[in-house]
Amino acid sequence: MHCEVAGRMLYAGASNPELEVHLSACDECRLLAVDLAGLGRAFDRARAEWAPSPAFRVRLPAAPWRRLAIAASLLFLPLAGLAATSLPSPRPEADLAVFLEHRQAPALPSDREILATLFLEEARR
Ligand SMILES: [Zn+2]
Repeated sequence: MHCEVAGRMLYAGASNPELEVHLSACDECRLLAVDLAGLGRAFDRARAEWAPSPAFRVRLPAAPWRRLAIAASLLFLPLAGLAATSLPSPRPEADLAVFLEHRQAPALPSDREILATLFLEEARR
């Protein structure tokens, strides 16, 4: 398998035994696989942990179908976040500790800060 084919499969999220053999022998594609996996985890966390603030705005382009497509994709994030918050927290005692330590409401981080933190955390793994 050539690197170009392997790269296309990695970007598409596909996998098969031939790709696994290539990854075991090719450092470049293995690094790409690790990078893409980290990026995927970061997007998963962003969907689960980040709900856009009311200040989060995107200027929509003029074409109506593009406007609908972007609106639909922006709706997905808060809905996914809402679904995630309805799940039981894996560490309720840790969340409670954070709440008790910050009796006065701390300044809320911006959307950019929240997303940057998520992606930096995943990049360090
Ligand atoms: Zn390769």
